[in-house]
Order: sequence, then structure tokens, then C-alpha cells
Amino acid sequence: MSNFEVIVIGAGGGGAVIAKELGEKGLKVLVLEAGPWYGNKKWPNPNSQSGAESSSTSDDLDVVLHKQLLNKFEMNMNDLVTGRFRWGPADRSRSQWFRNADQKGVIWQCSGVGGTTQAYTANCPRAYPAAIDNVWPISYRELIPYYEKVEETLPVNFAATTAKEELFYYGAKKAGWHLIPTLDVTGPGYRPQPNAILPPNKNITNLNLSEEQLSWMEGCTLSGHCINGCPHGPSVDKMAKRSTNVSYVPLALKTGNVCIRPNAFVIKIVTENTVSKGLHAVGVKIRDTWTGEQEELRAEIVVMASGSIESPRLWLNSGLPDNQWVGRGLVNHYMDWVSGIFEEKDLIPILGTSDINPFVGNTCGARMDYPGLGALQSVGMSPGLTASFYAVSESGYSFLHTPGMNDPWDIRGRLFGYELKETMDAYRRTLNILVSTDDEVNQRNGITLDPLIRDENGFVPVVKYQPTKQSSRKRSKLVKIAAELLRKAGAKKIIWTNWPTGMMIHIESTMRMGFVVDQDCETFQVKRLYIADNSVHYNSLGGVNPTLTTQALATRTAEKLVEKYFN
Ligand SMILES: Cc1cc2nc3c(=O)[nH]c(=O)nc-3n(C[C@H](O)[C@H](O)[C@H](O)COP(=O)(O)OP(=O)(O)OC[C@H]3O[C@@H](n4cnc5c(N)ncnc54)[C@H](O)[C@@H]3O)c2cc1C
Ligand code: SF4
Repeated sequence: MSNFEVIVIGAGGGGAVIAKELGEKGLKVLVLEAGPWYGNKKWPNPNSQSGAESSSTSDDLDVVLHKQLLNKFEMNMNDLVTGRFRWGPADRSRSQWFRNADQKGVIWQCSGVGGTTQAYTANCPRAYPAAIDNVWPISYRELIPYYEKVEETLPVNFAATTAKEELFYYGAKKAGWHLIPTLDVTGPGYRPQPNAILPPNKNITNLNLSEEQLSWMEGCTLSGHCINGCPHGPSVDKMAKRSTNVSYVPLALKTGNVCIRPNAFVIKIVTENTVSKGLHAVGVKIRDTWTGEQEELRAEIVVMASGSIESPRLWLNSGLPDNQWVGRGLVNHYMDWVSGIFEEKDLIPILGTSDINPFVGNTCGARMDYPGLGALQSVGMSPGLTASFYAVSESGYSFLHTPGMNDPWDIRGRLFGYELKETMDAYRRTLNILVSTDDEVNQRNGITLDPLIRDENGFVPVVKYQPTKQSSRKRSKLVKIAAELLRKAGAKKIIWTNWPTGMMIHIESTMRMGFVVDQDCETFQVKRLYIADNSVHYNSLGGVNPTLTTQALATRTAEKLVEKYFN
């Protein structure tokens, strides 16, 4: 394994994209990924045996293995401590990698080829133009061709309508909101989710086909559970949910120029300082997560795509120059969870049936956008995950709170015991809404290094986040809009969980453009070191899901990098 021109650290939301783009431009690229690779026959038992070292051909992708390893058992896939999609080494008998965070909540990221997109729900909205123009160092117009390229490659489609989407649209319409007909969102309204999920298979209503048969055909089966990783499709590169391990990774391998090495944790960026080049990256030091052996690998360019916590951590652990914005400014969409419980008799005239069955269909098939405030999304999680989301609250136990006259909710706080049981009994008649706030950047939030605690990869990150007053005000307004939408749709009981600040699912902006990287995503202080993950976002994009923008930027960065260093 030698003679690579570019090393990419991380094969997740951004890393897989830049690897494919650079490979198509003829560069030799090595992708180093800390976690396992599911669905590659060189690693048939990725969680218990070390397998091969690397793979550089799509012939290694194995659909049978992919389907065996990605199943619908929630704990097996999504348990944050022991699940296949945890943040930890491939060997599941070992502990996950530690982050020091004292907030209540969860930091939900995954290691492995595909990164956190393995578990994501594939929503692909563009940023709100108002969050970019005259705010970012680049304009919204500059992003559009790159959005279009990613939308075509994944590809992005509008989510199908199942019962939960129909009910969401019904409530939004009754609450006075209008349908948004464009991808570029300039005013509030509702719309089907643009997502990276293939449209439903045409045979979906053919009763002569079993679910198993349908699962081997191309297209979404609307079977739900997208968060567990999608096992539906005829081959790895045609799976219905287009996480990067099944979309960009096969395309990267097909270029013949990209080699991916899982189980390789980068512990240091190696630099040199010369008169002609100044301080510049020349390679990386890695640690094999199975053997513990360390190795130095060299390339002309290094791209960090290790996510918004690990990229700054790696910078700091590598002793790179001081910068008061490295690791700082973390935004997280200060999320919340509002649920409406409906009665059968009220659902029948709207849906034609008495149940919503929220797990059916794309997990987040409908959304309401509100530039200036953020976004609301319908969420149909499986029962275990739904119950766990009722259990994390800033308000403490629900029995502590009686609603006031003007409160839009009937229950606030953490459900437990009989109340949780009663709520879960109504699971099939529940519509959940995820609140995603246009979160304000604050330099005090973010990643620093713990001065004392180390793991095998270096000093561990300390993760801190407190919303600003402005973010809190916006979230409260969105919670009210969500409650009103549910009430207008006919919900009889509204539950406001009031999530704590530490529910981290959309982590962004810790290596901001204009402060840590320039507008082409090369770091100001270390030449030939680029970043291609969520951390380069200047802000929280107005509150919309971050990955499409990361992927558009990664596509643009590949172009700029080649222009500067390989022309
Ligand atoms: C449940 C869930 C649902 C989500 N749904 C959506 C959604 O619908 N739409 C959306 O836009 N976003 C969604 N997200 C967020 C989305 O997953 C992230 O925005 C996206 O994956 C971020 O891409 P990234 O490249 O920054 O990081 P990641 O995808 O996390 O990739 C980073 C990769 O780098 C690897 N890595 C880290 N450190 C090192 C190191 N030192 N050496 C080697 N490798 C390393 C990691 O193992 C990982 O594979 C969701 C997240 C979760 C948890
Ligand atoms: S609903 Fe989700 S998991 Fe099921 S087939 Fe469609 S994309 Fe895959």
C-alpha cells in the first residue's frame, strides 16, 4: 500500500464523497476508516475477526453479507454502547471510544465505512439560502451546482406518502401553512422530505410477492426502520437507503483509484515546515484497531473527514498551531421531540384507517421548513427507539408538571411507569415531530481535549454545548408550531418531551469556514490539509439537516484541491 497522492481520514458523510470525486479525477486516494466495513467479503465477520487490510475493488462488495449484518433488531444495530453502529472499534467485545460530556443526552455518531450515514435517515434538504448569503464566505449560488451533482449521484427523491406523512400534511394545511414547491426554501411551509431513498418498488402492492422477494428488488419497500441501516435491494450499490457505504463508496471503488482501509484510527497528522511550502501536511500516523500496531503513511495532501468531534480532536492531539476557533462554535440544532396521540375515530376520516403505524415508510417522510426558526420533521421510529426518546427530558419526570391554561401541551417531561406504558400502548396512533432549531454559533461551545484522560487514540475530547438565549427562543416557537400542527390534525393528547441540550445528532461547525479553513476548505495554518465533513459549516444552515451540504462542499473541495495542487 504506497504511492497515494491523497489520504482521506474517515469514510462517512463527507469522506466517501471526496474520495469518489478525487478518484474520478485520476488521483490515487487512500481512505483510512477507524471502524469496521459491513458488506465486504474481505471482512466476513467484521466484529469478531480482523479480516484483510484493505479493499480497492467493488467486486469485494457482497450483498448477502450486507443483508446478514444489517438487520432490524434495534439493539443489535443501534445500541450506542454495543450496537454495530456505535462509536467504537470493530471488535464488539471491547468498549466504545470515550467522549467526556457532562450534559444529559446522547452523542449519536457511528464508526465504520459509511460513518454516521449508516444510521442516518437520509433526509437531504438544501440549506436555507438566507442562512448562507451574506453570512458564509461563499454564496448560496456557488453551492447550487454542487447540490445538484450530489442530488443526482445519491440520488435524492421526494419521500413517498404513507399515513404519518398524510396526517402531517393534513395538520400543516389546517394550521394555515402552504406547500413549498422548490428545493430552495425562502419562506415557511411544508413539503415531502427530499431524501436519499430510492422511490418505492413498483411491485409493492403485488400480493403475489413475499416481503423477502420484494427485498431483493430495486426500490424502497416502505418497511421502515431506516435507522438500522437498510438491507433492501438487489446489490450493495443499489440498496434503497443511500448511505455513503452503498452510494459513494462503490462509485469510489469503481474509479480504480481508491483504496479503503477500515480498522485504521488516525492518531496524528504529520507535518513538515519548509521554506518553500511553509507548515504543511505530509501524512498521518495510524493505529490498527485490532493489533494496536502504529504506522506512518505519507501523501501529498491530507483530508480530515472524521466528523465534527474527531477532526478538531485530531488537530489538537497532533499539536497543530493554536487557533481559538479550532473545536469551537459547535451547533447541534438544539433538538426537541413533540408527540401527538390520536383516537381511532378521528383518524378514519383522514387516513381511511384507524392506525398511523408510524414505523411504516421512510423514517422522516414529511417536513415543515421555517427559515429564521428551523424545521419540523415527522419521525416514525420503531417502538424501542420511540420509548427511549420519551425518556430523556430536561424537565424531569412528567408527573411534576401540570399544564397551565395557555400551554399547548398536556404532558411535559420524562415518561415512565404506567404513563410510559399507556403512551406506548397508543404507539400505533402516535405522530412524533422532531424539532430542529436554527442554532446560533457560540464560541464557548465545542470540543477541547481532556488534559488527563487518554484512550488508545490520544487525549479524549471534552464536548460542551449550551444553547444561546436566541436558540432557546427559536426552539420554543418551533415547539408551539409543532403542537399546533398536531392539534389541528386532531391529536387528543400532546406530549412535549423537552429534550436536554445534549441530544447531539447533527453536530456541525467546529472547524468553521473563514476561521479554521478558507473558502476552499484548506486549513489556514497548515497547507495541504483540507477538511471535508460537517465541521466546516459556518453555521447550522438555518436548522436543516446537514449532510447534503457537507457532500456538496466535499464535491466542491475536490475540485478546488485538484485545481490548486494537481494542475
Ligand atoms: C440517527 C441519525 C439520523 C440522522 N439523520 C440525518 C438525516 O436524515 N439527514 C442528515 O443530513 N443528517 C442526518 N444525520 C447526521 C448525519 O449522519 C451526519 O450529518 C453525517 O454523517 C456527518 O458526516 P461527517 O462526514 O461529518 O461524519 P461521519 O459521517 O460521522 O463520518 C466520520 C467518519 O470518520 C471516522 N473517523 C473519525 N475519526 C477518525 C480517525 N481519527 N481516523 C480514522 N477514521 C476516523 C468515523 O469512524 C466515521 O466513519 C443523522 C444522524 C443520526 C445519528
Ligand atoms: S423504508 Fe427505509 S429501511 Fe425500509 S426499504 Fe425503505 S429505505 Fe430501506
